[in-house]
Amino acid sequence: MNAPAFDASTAGREVVARAEALARHSDSPDHYTRTWLTPAHRAAALQIAGWMGEAGMSVRTDGVGNVIGRYEATAAGATALVTGSHFDSVRNGGKYDGILGILVPLACVSELNRRGERLPVAIEVVAFADEEGARFQTSFLASRAFLGKFDTVLLERRDADGVTFEEAMRAAGLDPAAIAASPRDPETIAAYVEVHIEQGPVLLDEGLPLGVVTGISGGTRHLVRVAGASGHAGTVPMPMRRDALAAAAEMVVAVEARAKAVPGLVGTVGILKVKDGTGNVIPGEVEFTVDIRSGEDAAREAAEREVFAAFEAIAARRGVGVTARKNHAVRATPCSPRIQDLLADSVAAVGAPVRKLPSGAGHDAMVMAEATEVGMLFIRCGAGGVSHNPAETVTAQDVGLAVAAMLAFLRAPGLSASRAPAGSAPGPAFVRRPA
Ligand SMILES: [Zn+2]
Repeated sequence: MNAPAFDASTAGREVVARAEALARHSDSPDHYTRTWLTPAHRAAALQIAGWMGEAGMSVRTDGVGNVIGRYEATAAGATALVTGSHFDSVRNGGKYDGILGILVPLACVSELNRRGERLPVAIEVVAFADEEGARFQTSFLASRAFLGKFDTVLLERRDADGVTFEEAMRAAGLDPAAIAASPRDPETIAAYVEVHIEQGPVLLDEGLPLGVVTGISGGTRHLVRVAGASGHAGTVPMPMRRDALAAAAEMVVAVEARAKAVPGLVGTVGILKVKDGTGNVIPGEVEFTVDIRSGEDAAREAAEREVFAAFEAIAARRGVGVTARKNHAVRATPCSPRIQDLLADSVAAVGAPVRKLPSGAGHDAMVMAEATEVGMLFIRCGAGGVSHNPAETVTAQDVGLAVAAMLAFLRAPGLSASRAPAGSAPGPAFVRRPA
């Protein structure tokens, strides 16, 4: 007798139920927070490993606690389509961020296993142990370690309770020396694909369940300092003032105006501090942050130049000083056109409209792009597109469509075709590249 047909809505409901179950492994009884190597994190890892085993995968855990399930291809030793995402969270986060990128492909493998179907490529589902870095203020710790990149300086770092990184590893039964010992050979990876909740409102606004990501935005962060002259709020006449906050306010609006002028460009001032701010004193010094992002590095760099030129002009006109310090910069990561096309075909194959969009948030795919060609599939985010928040939500129907689309993607004949010589994919020497 034939196995019953695949039912996307059942698969979607099962994934959502699993996400709910995993969210119960939380560092806090009051909300969902799961940080690297806490008891809740280790319990979640065990649960994920159990589900991988049930789906017919061989399961291993690597040096930083990544859980890796492998479903073999028709032939032994085949290259692997690597797919996954993270199972740590921000504090008081949403239970679908990261998790969907593990559970959706897991549901696909489970279906293949049920049918007894093998593909020309092996499938590896990687549950990355730490992406948000909430416990040790790390950045992409797990995906970097997956590729054999690990900065041993981290071992000394302490969490909020004073526990060192190394102590946390040893308490979890992990050996720091094992991390760099087995870097993944990029030649064994066919491509990397990450399914992720959109974390924004674009698909929701357009009434679309799925999106194909064109690239992950690059971005810069600056700390800007405006120096004016403080004075008595009652005694200094308006024409004689050099108000740092009034100047900063104009600069904030200049960031917004410049970002609004170019589609795909975003600019944000998230922090603004008045030094010694007092109700009856003219602000003498103000600090604020500027975060500018775009999928196009050239567009972002042009915007930065113009924004800082505008700051200079505002400062000159108002007789204040302005200085800026860059404290973060990351270049955009384009998704592979080949993977985008395959994902678009798969989305169309399940009857959903194809919408391509950039990712404004960073993901493990940015790191994986240093080793192989990457792609991402977004799932519509409910509740106004809010993420990194307990209100984050998805529908089982959308998730079911994502499972069906990923299944179509994995079975696509084009996927096993030899990998395009992607310019972004460096040779085997990549593991020695400085951080
Ligand atoms: Zn995430």
